[in-house]
Amino acid sequence: MNLENLYRQVILDHYKNPRNKGLKGYPKVRIKNPSCGDDITVEAKVSEGLIEEINHEGSGCSICCSSASVLSETLGGKTTAKAEELIQKFYSMIKGEDEGDEELEEALVYQGVSQFPARIKCATLPWKALERLLKGDDDE
Ligand code: ZN
Repeated sequence: MNLENLYRQVILDHYKNPRNKGLKGYPKVRIKNPSCGDDITVEAKVSEGLIEEINHEGSGCSICCSSASVLSETLGGKTTAKAEELIQKFYSMIKGEDEGDEELEEALVYQGVSQFPARIKCATLPWKALERLLKGDDDE
């Protein structure tokens, strides 16, 4: 199995079996991508600079929904400072500016999205929601 197929498998697995799906009532941000129909809400429990938990809910394409699941696993448990750094690293990888930092862990599977400009918004949508959350710009 080549790397591209492996990445596709991981994305499909997160799409079919999303981790941390279902909101629990923490501060949240809802964000939409009208061009694809993605509609995702991301919430986070942050305490003293540590993201204790990230959950998500919503509907959309496989790239967007799986990305919310991967985001919850990759950045849950990180400090807010580290998460902000990794969000920027994710954006530069998705834009094709670099291959992606290994600190992105499982999120590296979205490397190939840079070749499909129409999907970039799908992959980054949940990350943008968390970025807003960390800035204190939540929906409530
Ligand atoms: Zn999408």
